[in-house]
Amino acid sequence: MSEVRTLKVALLGCGNVGAQVARILIDDAEALAARSGARLELSGIAVRTIDSPRDVELPRELFTTDADTLVKDADLVIELMGGIEPARSLILTAIQNGACVVTGNKALLAQDGPTLYEEADKAGVQLSYEAAVAGAIPILRPIRDSLSGDRITRVLGIVNGTTNFILDQMDSTGAQFADALAEAQRLGYAEADPTADVEGHDAAAKAAILASLSFHTRFSLDDVYCEGITKVSAEDIASAKEAGFVIKLLAIAEKIDSSDHGSGISVRVHPTLLPREHPLAAVRGAFNAVFIEAENAGELMFYGQGAGGTPTASAVLGDLVSAARRLVLGGPGRTETTTGHVPALTIDASDTSYYIGLDVADQAGVLARIAHIFAENGVSIEIMRQTIHRDSASNVESAELKIVTHRASEAALAATVAAVKGLDVINSVTSVLRVEGV
Ligand code: NAP
Repeated sequence: MSEVRTLKVALLGCGNVGAQVARILIDDAEALAARSGARLELSGIAVRTIDSPRDVELPRELFTTDADTLVKDADLVIELMGGIEPARSLILTAIQNGACVVTGNKALLAQDGPTLYEEADKAGVQLSYEAAVAGAIPILRPIRDSLSGDRITRVLGIVNGTTNFILDQMDSTGAQFADALAEAQRLGYAEADPTADVEGHDAAAKAAILASLSFHTRFSLDDVYCEGITKVSAEDIASAKEAGFVIKLLAIAEKIDSSDHGSGISVRVHPTLLPREHPLAAVRGAFNAVFIEAENAGELMFYGQGAGGTPTASAVLGDLVSAARRLVLGGPGRTETTTGHVPALTIDASDTSYYIGLDVADQAGVLARIAHIFAENGVSIEIMRQTIHRDSASNVESAELKIVTHRASEAALAATVAAVKGLDVINSVTSVLRVEGV
């Protein structure tokens, strides 16, 4: 009987995720060996400070501050330090030394993924990063492997738990953004500096990865249009709710054939209205979900925990077992296919439906004048609803108009809103939000 091979696993980082990965590697060693076909030996854990308190009790002799030496003597390297450097250099060293790499570092992949993928391809090693998008949810492998015989046309993802928690809190309690953010921070769903989450940067990094795999072309952060949730008000949420919508921060990657801009992929992150019956509308709290439309498979949805040490460790270990199996069986590493060669389109090329809230004077003929401006700019109205308000102090009546359009281009919408604003009967434009799923 041939002897079972031992593969050395270097772990870089022992924080929220790394500590759970180390625990599972030690506690589940037997099962992991059976599934990989090799013993996975945790050869060391690189950290900044050896004596930092840890979530998991681990043998002290495993810890080192010399990540470079650890990496050079490993078959498999798990990078869970986060940040750009030294993570990037350590991953490159691992690849050049022929080690397979597993990482959850979406910030690094969005910034410099193409260099890392190319180096891994050249070295014939596997670079896996399931944990980088939507934590525990198996989404990258289904896109890359299970759907490789199909054509994906659109991906809509709730890929940031912090912003989903905040928007859900605003929707269910009527809270303003600042209060919902404070609650998210109190419960540990948002960082002390929430910029990367609330400005959409974290979701944009994940959108670039989802788009790259879905459309077989390398997209970077520069290709992603990004708008966060800081300007979404309690009034927007209430008004959307009344009209049967929920507001979600969506990462969207879709194929567009535009007569003005040509064919390509629109990759974008922005607050989006969804009909309350859309499957993504049911994703509450800090959960994540990715909704995929493919030519042959139709609609698919993947749902689960998008963060947290233990759920994310599950995705890391899935990648590790798969990379170990490949080392045992041989064969080249595979990162992604890049045969699509489709250009990224700017936000101007995207066309969506829009939700527009208007505060208007309650006068005869107002609706007709507004409808005329929409028609003149080629934006067709699907729903127009009017609610009359009377100011008790001044006894002046005004009307709130809620308009949902059919799909229209960004440019046509911008021209329409500008023209509507110029009407003397318009008190204010209260919301302009994009709508999906209608
Ligand atoms: P974390 O709790 O901040 O832990 C980072 C770890 O890396 C710590 O153990 C730290 O050492 C170590 N480290 C940082 N810089 C180092 C350096 N220069 N040299 C050596 N060690 C260094 O991070 P995390 O939440 O586990 O996240 C890790 C990665 O997974 C990130 O890329 C993150 O984006 C990704 N991710 C996280 C989640 C999640 O739910 N947390 C979900 C999906 C993906 P010390 O302990 O000594 O400080």
